[in-house]
Amino acid sequence: MNTTRTQVAIVGAGPAGLTLAHLLHLEGIDSVVLEDRSREYVEARIRAGVLEQAIVDLLVEAGAGERLQREGLVHHGIELQFAGERHRIPLSDLAGGRAIVIYGQTEMVKDLIALRLATGGPLLFEVDNVSVHDLDTGRPVVRYRHDGREEELECDVIAGCDGFHGICRPSIPDGILSEFSREYPFGWLGILAAVAPSSDELVYAHNERGFALLSLRSPELSRLYVQCRPDDDVSEWPDDRVWEELQLRLGLDGWTLAEGPVLEKGVTGMRSYVCEPMRYGRLFIAGDAAHIVPPTGAKGLNLALHDVRVLAEALVDWFRSANPVGLDAYSDTCLRRVWRAEHFSWWMTQMLHRPEEQDAFDLKLQLSQLRYVTSSPAAATALAENYVGLTSL
Ligand SMILES: Cc1cc2nc3c(=O)[nH]c(=O)nc-3n(C[C@H](O)[C@H](O)[C@H](O)COP(=O)(O)OP(=O)(O)OC[C@H]3O[C@@H](n4cnc5c(N)ncnc54)[C@H](O)[C@@H]3O)c2cc1C
Repeated sequence: MNTTRTQVAIVGAGPAGLTLAHLLHLEGIDSVVLEDRSREYVEARIRAGVLEQAIVDLLVEAGAGERLQREGLVHHGIELQFAGERHRIPLSDLAGGRAIVIYGQTEMVKDLIALRLATGGPLLFEVDNVSVHDLDTGRPVVRYRHDGREEELECDVIAGCDGFHGICRPSIPDGILSEFSREYPFGWLGILAAVAPSSDELVYAHNERGFALLSLRSPELSRLYVQCRPDDDVSEWPDDRVWEELQLRLGLDGWTLAEGPVLEKGVTGMRSYVCEPMRYGRLFIAGDAAHIVPPTGAKGLNLALHDVRVLAEALVDWFRSANPVGLDAYSDTCLRRVWRAEHFSWWMTQMLHRPEEQDAFDLKLQLSQLRYVTSSPAAATALAENYVGLTSL
């Protein structure tokens, strides 16, 4: 077995792992990033697209936001649609001028991979059999296979950025983690369509047929979702059916939803999940490896990057001055923001989705909540500040 050494072994080249590697590189801390998928696969995976202002600022300050600044679309509001009307929530007016930026996670990942390769940092794709060991010692180890060779990577710290189905969290011994979760009886059927978005801002629609969302990725690409069953198969949703449902759920007198070729289609189940603490010995877990939110609040990607910002700062203090305070506080610091996002995402989900057999009382409560949020500045401000991302927690 070939043995190498680094300061931080990062498992997973998603947004969390790649951003962490870059933030550490800027501070002169070595890392190796291990990814089990191919570069082509990772760069083609269509996922999130709404960035909080603080995350845009983080990427720009780190020198990873050049294309994001050029191509990202700044939005100052969103629309809530219910009972046949649209109501604008002026996010920036309500949240101290802060905005959101629309920029595909896929594009962000491409930018971060290019930056990593340009700075010469190790980033290995298509590694197999990744396993983490000796987590409760001062010399943890990652073993993996690459190009047919067995490899051992000794390090000071392991960052588990390997998503919800990764191996890092399950490597923590039984009895250490507390897990909190909720499954929802909803899924999202999402499409990416080659057509200019029919609205300048995102439209979240409550409808008797189920929730729908009109979103976008660029001036030429629309991203649209309809609520479906979590176990629906994509084959049950031919393009005609998707457009028909979108027209019915988003339709308004005097407004037209433009249709175009469907480039990508998929069903995502909805789940809330948190594990505590986000650390075991020298293993620190970040992003989807530690928590999941339903996508209704657009928080998953943002949370992942907040985690690694906190982790990078703590690691800098620890490597530079042997100061463990930041690392010791890592889990509690992140979990304060995580639980706020968990609540916001759950709240948006239950306000906007229609269960298959909805109680008439619950429907009245949803509509009352939507009227309140769109008519009370206090309630609208609560939505706005959560949506653009709270600055202090
Ligand atoms: C279909 C879908 C749609 C989504 N839509 C939205 C949205 O609209 N808005 C939103 O905010 N969020 C959305 N999310 C969530 C958002 O994409 C995630 O929160 C975000 O990707 C988290 O980043 P991460 O780096 O923590 O994890 P990931 O992006 O999951 O990255 C983890 C990486 O680790 C790799 N990996 C896994 N196991 C191993 C292993 N054993 N060894 C090495 N590497 C491994 C994976 O291949 C992956 O590249 C969506 C998620 C999905 C799945």
